[in-house]
Amino acid sequence: QEITAKYQILEQVGSGAYSDVYRGRRISDGLIIALKEVHDYQSAFREIEALQILQRSSPNVVALHEYFWREDEDAVLVLEFLRTDLASVIGEAKKRGQGSLSVGEIKRWMLQILNGVEACHRNLIVHRDLKPGNLLVSDDGVLKIADFGQARILLEHNNVASDNEQQPYEQAVSEQQSYVNPSLELIDKEEYFRGLDQFKPQNVHHDEADKETNSCLATCCTASDLDDDPFKTSSYSCQLEEGGGEYGALGPLTSCIGTRWFRAPELLYGSTNYGLEVDLWSLGCIFAELLALEPLFPGVSDIDQLSRIITVLGNLSEDVWADCSKLPDYNTISFGKVESPMSIGSRLSHRSADEVSLVSKLLCYDPAKRATTTELLQDKYFLEEPLPVPVSGLKVPS
Ligand code: ADP
Repeated sequence: QEITAKYQILEQVGSGAYSDVYRGRRISDGLIIALKEVHDYQSAFREIEALQILQRSSPNVVALHEYFWREDEDAVLVLEFLRTDLASVIGEAKKRGQGSLSVGEIKRWMLQILNGVEACHRNLIVHRDLKPGNLLVSDDGVLKIADFGQARILLEHNNVASDNEQQPYEQAVSEQQSYVNPSLELIDKEEYFRGLDQFKPQNVHHDEADKETNSCLATCCTASDLDDDPFKTSSYSCQLEEGGGEYGALGPLTSCIGTRWFRAPELLYGSTNYGLEVDLWSLGCIFAELLALEPLFPGVSDIDQLSRIITVLGNLSEDVWADCSKLPDYNTISFGKVESPMSIGSRLSHRSADEVSLVSKLLCYDPAKRATTTELLQDKYFLEEPLPVPVSGLKVPS
């Protein structure tokens, strides 16, 4: 009722696995917004939590105006409305023909994507479903990362002992300080709080004025929920070290996430302790698609997906990724020896060496070798002629 008093639904504009999305109007001032009805508790929780943390962190992440929980655990997110997406930009360019996206335009699209993903990773949020269809585009060419329904937050506890001395748990509790479990530097906040007390965010309503970073926990958990929390003085969002730092691993995760074409090889091999680098792989696939105007690895099954990757990059072996044999499915999935891999260059044959090199920096088997968003934002490719066009110079499908 609260929603219908404030917003008028105009028409349905999309739907996803767990959601229906409508174009709507805010009654008070006529602002056009998107109403995303999410029918899955976990997906709604993840999307709200991630978006709250990311608000105002980058112009390239979709804005969440407010959200409503319904009694049956559905949520309605009020998002800024973005009419089109990068998949349509690529589709239109393809129709116009090869070369119809100028290098300057490609650079500006890439920079906007990198800027948005950098904000996610700076806040230790792994999106896990980056693809052109989830990169929404406004009429004036601003690209915004959307659909955080699969996002996870890597929680790194404040390491209070700067000399790397870990405090024992009991001492930390008695001194009301944060405890850093040496074997568990990064835990998943959501799982953690679920374990604490099965709190249900019932009737939680966020006001537009209340957009304080990380306010979700403060709003969703009462103070008593946190009373027994030995970590309560720890920081919920933390910065990566200057220059990218170490990307941490998550606790057990599902490998069956994300859209197959953009899924990192470690996920295809069943990894459950992957990190932010899965997004970097997706970025490599998206950049290649911007450059070639067609998907790089359009697998029709998970095995076909891996087989396409191996045809281009060669077999996955300890030579390229020392730890690869630890992947759960490394020994169960085997391919014949690819004697002469195609290489990314031959898949992007009409593109420049700098462009091939940029994509190659992302599409490494070893997650630790993938270039980070911070590194890529400083890549000389973006500083050289032809320079990125201004956002207003981008062609947006009508
Ligand atoms: P799901 O998580 O269920 O996949 P998405 O967030 O991807 O849902 O939304 C599904 C579709 O709804 C999108 O492909 C897009 O067409 C539309 N949509 C989503 N968010 C917006 C928005 N902020 N503005 C306009 N359309 C949107």
